[in-house]
Formats: sequence, structure tokens, C-alpha cells
Amino acid sequence: TPRPLIAGNWKMNGLLRHLTELEAISGACAGMGEGKDLLICPPATLLSASAGLLFGKAAIGGQDCHAETSGAYTGDVAAEMLADLGATYVIVGHSERRAGHGESDADVRAKAQAAWRAGLTAIICLGESAEDHEAGEKLRVLGAQLAASVPDGMSAKNTVIAYEPIWAIGSGRTPTTEDIANVHDFLRQNLAERFGKEVADGVRLLYGGSVKPDNAAEILAIVNVDGALIGGASLKAADFVAICRAC
Ligand code: 13P
Repeated sequence: TPRPLIAGNWKMNGLLRHLTELEAISGACAGMGEGKDLLICPPATLLSASAGLLFGKAAIGGQDCHAETSGAYTGDVAAEMLADLGATYVIVGHSERRAGHGESDADVRAKAQAAWRAGLTAIICLGESAEDHEAGEKLRVLGAQLAASVPDGMSAKNTVIAYEPIWAIGSGRTPTTEDIANVHDFLRQNLAERFGKEVADGVRLLYGGSVKPDNAAEILAIVNVDGALIGGASLKAADFVAICRAC
């Protein structure tokens, strides 16, 4: 089974004064990275400072990247720029980017390729909406997102897949453990058909959406759940560390 990954996504949160949380995470995480990988994705503005604070304790990653290496793209950040600051991962295709910035599966695929080009591991996110969920369309939607968002050439090293049901993000609601297990089994199977069993078995499949210290152990124990992508609970060192310990 793959080495677990516990990843925090700070989203658009964090000022310089919040770096104290990273200091606390860094202190608590000494020695914790033995059997698992730890990652924090702060806002781009804090990446440089985070790299120094977390060095040797946890990896750092971006929350998005542009598909091109450089150019006239005001406000965007290239994967190469993230790598330049010491990032080793980048989240692509988060539902907040898909919804808020109109990113299509094709855009997400291009961003994942950009991540690979820069030597980063792409954390490709997928997830069904509440409507898809209620209409029983979940697996069809996820299968389509997976097919179109994951580029050819995926490996266990260059890619992590994160399943984040949109209705579970920031809502305090999570799918049942059985539902998470079913989706992760489906994703693994689907990847095996396209990339072969060896690659599929090595790729980390994360669950994200209202992971908290009190439900982390149960979620992380599910077969085919190889870690978690944590939003709100990653902002507080105590919560993030508690989730890391539950893994
Ligand atoms: P929450 O943990 O706040 O629900 O956010 C999940 C998420 O979107 C992580 O990328």
C-alpha cells in the first residue's frame, strides 16, 4: 500500500502572523514523518517563509498553477515558480477553482502536465456536487472527471488523486465510510484499467471534505484511503497535528 499523505490546504487564509501555526506544526512534526508524508499548501504569498519553517518536517505545495512556464498572465503563478521556492506538490482542479474560475477538465489536465514539467507532484482533485450525489450520478461524474483531468503518463510518483465531494467541503458533513470506500475502490479500479494495476496500486488516493480530529482515524482506516486533504482543520496546528497522529 502507498505511503500515506496528510495534506493541509490553507486556501485563501494566512497572514505573516499565522506563520506561528507552521512553527507549531514544525515542532510537533519532528519525527512524525517516519511512515507518512506531511504537506502544507499555504497561500502563494507565504510559500517562501513556509519553506524555511517546515524544512525537513513537512513538504510545501501550491494551491494552483498556470499551465504555461511564464508570460503575460497577470496574477498567475507558474509551476516553475512554485518549484523555485521549494514546493514539491501543487493542488490542481480543486472544486473552488473549477467553480470560481471556470476551470474545465482540460484546463486541469494541462495544469497537471505543467506540474510534472516543473518536477512537482500534482494533486488532482475531483468531486461530485450535491445534485449529482442526490441524482445517483456520482460515479459517472467522477469517472468522467478522472478520465479527462488525469493526463496520460501518470505515475505513482507524479500524481496524487484527491476525492473531495463538493457538498462535504466546509460543511461538517461527510459521506459514510462505506460511501468513501466505494468511491475509492472505483477510482483505483478505474485507474488500473487505464494505467495498469502496478501504477494504480501505487497512486495515493486522498479523501477531503470536513476531515477533523474526531473523524480522521475512522476515515484514514478505510481501505484505499491513502491520506487526507484538509482545509479548515489544517489552519490550527493542534487540529492538523491531531489528524497527522490519527494516521
Ligand atoms: P474542509 O476540510 O474545510 O472541508 O476543506 C476541504 C478541502 O477543500 C481541502 O482541499
